[in-house]
Amino acid sequence: MKFFVYNTLNRQKEEFVPLMNDPDYTGPKKDFVGVYTCGPTVYRDAHIGNMRAYFFADMLRNTLKNILWYPVKYVVNITDVGHLTSDADEGEDKLEKWSKREGISARDVAKKYEERFRKFLKMLNIEDFDVFPRATEHIPEQIKIIQTLEKKWYTYSIPNDGIYMDTSKVKEYGKLAKLDIEGLNQGARVENDQKKNKTDFALRKFSPIGEQRQMERESPRGKGFPWWHIECSAMSSKYLWEQFDIHTGGVDHIPVHHTNEIAQSECGCGCTPRVKYWMHVQFLNLGWKKIAKSAGGLVTVDDIVAKGFSPLDLRYFYMLAHYRNFQDFTIELLEQAKHWRHSLIKKLQGRKIIKDKKEFENDPVFQQALEALCDDLNTPKLLAILQTALTAGWENIYAIITWLEENFLKLGLFEPIVEEKIDIPVEVIALADQRIQAKKDKNFALADELRNKITSAWFQVKDTKDGYEITKA
Ligand code: AMP
Ligand code: ZN
Repeated sequence: MKFFVYNTLNRQKEEFVPLMNDPDYTGPKKDFVGVYTCGPTVYRDAHIGNMRAYFFADMLRNTLKNILWYPVKYVVNITDVGHLTSDADEGEDKLEKWSKREGISARDVAKKYEERFRKFLKMLNIEDFDVFPRATEHIPEQIKIIQTLEKKWYTYSIPNDGIYMDTSKVKEYGKLAKLDIEGLNQGARVENDQKKNKTDFALRKFSPIGEQRQMERESPRGKGFPWWHIECSAMSSKYLWEQFDIHTGGVDHIPVHHTNEIAQSECGCGCTPRVKYWMHVQFLNLGWKKIAKSAGGLVTVDDIVAKGFSPLDLRYFYMLAHYRNFQDFTIELLEQAKHWRHSLIKKLQGRKIIKDKKEFENDPVFQQALEALCDDLNTPKLLAILQTALTAGWENIYAIITWLEENFLKLGLFEPIVEEKIDIPVEVIALADQRIQAKKDKNFALADELRNKITSAWFQVKDTKDGYEITKA
C-alpha cells in the first residue's frame, strides 16, 4: 500500500518513497528508514500538548514499522542543555533557571524530567524509540560541525557572545518556512544588533566573563556551550547519517529551529536535501485559562490520571483529530473520548480474535482502514470506519480490530475498564465550604468566584438540600 504524507518542505501530500528505494538518492546506501523527532527539553514536565507530538511520533513509527514493514530506525533526542527561554538567541538557559528554582543541579533537573517524560510515554502505551540520545553526551559531535562550518567561512564571532551562522551565505535559507528574508531583515526578528543579518543564529555561546555556568564545556574556542539547533543536527547525523527520510516536530519549530537545522546541516555536509520529508504536528489548545491554572501552568498525563481518566482515554482523544489540525482540549472533550473508548471496550468484550493477517487482508473494511491510515495518518477517519463496521456487525471486524489494536491503536481495547476512584482534594472541599458560607452571607460575588476556583480545579459543586455535592467536572 502506498503511504502519503504531508511534506512541509513542499506544502503538499506526497507519496512516501524511502531513500533506500529512491533512484534519485545518491548518498551512502541505506538499509533503514531513518526518522528523527525533536525531543523534550527536560527542565520541567512535558505537558499534554508536548505529548501530542510524541503520540504522533508513535503513530508514524507504528505505521512505518508494523503496517508497512519498513526496517525503521527512530531517534528522539533529549534536550538536556542550553535551551533558551525564547526562540531568539537571548535569555536565560531554561535548565539553569529551573535548577535555581528547584535547588538541585541542572544535571539532576534533567535526569528527573527525563525519567518523568519516559514514564508519560509508557502511560500512553508508547514503546521506547530506538535511540534516545542526550545532547550533553554529543558535545564533540556538535563542536565538529561548528568547526566544519568555520572552515567553510559560514560563521563569525561576536566577542563575549558567541559564534554565529551567517545566513546570508546559506543557499535557500528559510526554504522550509518559506521565510520572507528581505521582510525579516527590514523588520525585527531578534534584538541582537551585533548580528550581520536578522536571521543569523548562534551555533555556540561563550560563557559570560566572570560567571560560571553549570553546563559549560571547554572547546578549542574557549568555555561555552553549543547552542540549541546544533544538537539536533549532530545527533541526527550521528544516528541516521547526513541525509535521512523523515524529521518531525511541532509546527512552532518550522520558522526557527528546523530552518536553522537545515541551514547548518546542509552547509556542513554539503548535501541537500538534508531530510526528504518534514512532518509537523499542529498545537493542542490547552484551554489555558480554565485548566492550566490548577496544574501550576501545566497539564500532564499525571494530572489526567488524578482526575479519574486512563492515559489511554487521552490516547483515544488524540486520535479524534487529525495531527495537522488544531485540537481543543477540554475536560468535556476528554470525557467524551473516555465514554467512546469505554463503549468500544464493552462492544469488544470477549471478542479478541487473533487471526493471521492473510485471512482478512483483502477485506474491504480492513483495506479502507489502512487507506485512511496511509492517507497522512487520518486517525479520525480510521476510527469512524471501525465504528461503522462494528455497528453494522461486519463479519471480520473483531479480527481486524484485534490486529489493529496490537499493531497501531494500542488503546487498551481488550483490557478491563478500571473505574478510578476520585479523591476530592481537601482544598476543593475547603473552597466548597467557604462558598456555602458566602451564600449564607449573601455575598454572591464571592460565591461565584469560589465556584470558578472549584471549576478550575476540575470539579463541580452542586447545591443539595443538606449542603453541597462535589463531582468531577
Ligand atoms: P519542548 O520541550 O518545548 O522543546 O517541546 C517539545 C515538543 O512539543 C516540540 O515538538 C513542540 O513543538 C511540541 N509542542 C509544544 N507545545 C505544544 C502544544 N500545545 N501542542 C502540540 N505540540 C506542542
Ligand atoms: Zn530539534
